[in-house]
Amino acid sequence: CGIVGYVGRENCADLLIDGLSKLEYRGYDSAGVAIFDEGAIRVVKAQGRLACLEEKLKSQGWPTGHCGIGHTRWATHGVPSDVNSHPHCGKHTAVVHNGIIENYIEIKEFLLGKGYTFQSQTDTETVAKLLDYHLENGAKDEFDAISRTLRQVRGSYALGILFDSCPDKLFGVRKESPLIVGLGEGENFIASDVPAILKHTRNYYLLEENEVATLTAEGVTITDLDGAPIEKEVLTATWDI
Ligand code: GLU
Repeated sequence: CGIVGYVGRENCADLLIDGLSKLEYRGYDSAGVAIFDEGAIRVVKAQGRLACLEEKLKSQGWPTGHCGIGHTRWATHGVPSDVNSHPHCGKHTAVVHNGIIENYIEIKEFLLGKGYTFQSQTDTETVAKLLDYHLENGAKDEFDAISRTLRQVRGSYALGILFDSCPDKLFGVRKESPLIVGLGEGENFIASDVPAILKHTRNYYLLEENEVATLTAEGVTITDLDGAPIEKEVLTATWDI
């Protein structure tokens, strides 16, 4: 299972597929991407090999956007299927997740009671819908929705998040599952592991628990859940792929 996210000037779908292929060693049963295409989030996902996702992207029209997230899934909650593949979406969000949301049943029941509906059997979809809930119920902005959501979920996660209101931005957070932030020139990345980004940059941050990474093409900010900036050391990969 793996996560890759990209924001920059290149074709995002190309980069996500290539990055995910470098994480294949982690194992997976399905794959998917969410990419801003002409201003809206477009999601394409498929059970099976990355080649199945590539075929689907080709036949539906390769996305042209420059910002997005990709995922390979190792199913824990919900059988491997197209519907259960990531990304999972709310009305305003797309989310990829590695790990397990332990209190997802509780969150799902809460949201069902508020009239939210679910398409998949996954624990992950509760995160997408909970982000929606907070956006619609008092969150000051997208960051605040993430912060409120993370204070509610229990379990392990690396998450890549898009909001339809921020077509040039992606967010990454983690707890007990790995996530790094790759630092490029006019482009930035998130990934489960360094090999996914090595073709593009050697410089990266190791994200720590409850740090929120906000990425645009121009830069990366890392903050705590209250939004206070955190100074990070830039690490440099010295090995080759
Ligand atoms: N628990 C999530 C699911 O089953 C994520 C699995 C993973 O880490 O790929 O969909």
